[in-house]
Amino acid sequence: MVDVQLQRMTGYLLKENYFDKAVLPLGSTEYHGDHLPFGTDTLVAESLADAVSKRVSGMLCLPALPFGMSRHYSSFPLSITLSTETQIHVIKEILESLNQQGLRRLLIINGHDGNLPGIEAATREYRVEHPEMKIAVLEAWWVTAAELLPKGTFEAWGGLGHAGEGETSIMLRVAPELVNLSKANGHIPKLPEHVQVKWLFKEITPFGVTGDPTKATSEKGILMWNALVDHLVSFVEDMDRDGWEVDKQQ
Ligand SMILES: [Zn+2]
Repeated sequence: MVDVQLQRMTGYLLKENYFDKAVLPLGSTEYHGDHLPFGTDTLVAESLADAVSKRVSGMLCLPALPFGMSRHYSSFPLSITLSTETQIHVIKEILESLNQQGLRRLLIINGHDGNLPGIEAATREYRVEHPEMKIAVLEAWWVTAAELLPKGTFEAWGGLGHAGEGETSIMLRVAPELVNLSKANGHIPKLPEHVQVKWLFKEITPFGVTGDPTKATSEKGILMWNALVDHLVSFVEDMDRDGWEVDKQQ
């Protein structure tokens, strides 16, 4: 089987194989509590992208971007952050490179909440200017995984939170050797409903962790990871069937 990771691929293999689409994992480098590694967001996005690209034909797995917009986490060590403005440029220039090379179908798998504004602005604006470039985004796997799994899968806060139950669980599937559950400590903040307060992270948790990572298990992580990969594979297959057009019935 061909390794579909561009980083590990020779020019010969690229020419010998047909790729009509790509997947781009977007991560971050930031504090994820005392129990998870700084590259958590990158590792999860990368792992999902790798699994999906191995299961669908013609999908190239691009290298993950290890830096995202992490300013709101900078009250804990050691965030390395781009500004949203920079990130918009970076994403648009990646889109432009792919488009110029004729790779015009892209799935973005995002691993980090702070990347959402940059992804939204870059992809919306780029598509208006370049409608030939087809772009799909898994914006928040942590929300999607909870939606795909039966209610009651998670014990605390719907599994949500930064380095919380869901994220710690999926890391127990992706890179268990990097997780130190004996150091897990979280806090579930009381946040208002319907209206978003723009917090600094230290205002809502003393641990650099929201949610409850002590409820994490590798069983939950396997369920989340499998549900996400299966969903993305069938999504890409459906998109291929429809020529990456949406709302075909119109
Ligand atoms: Zn994270």
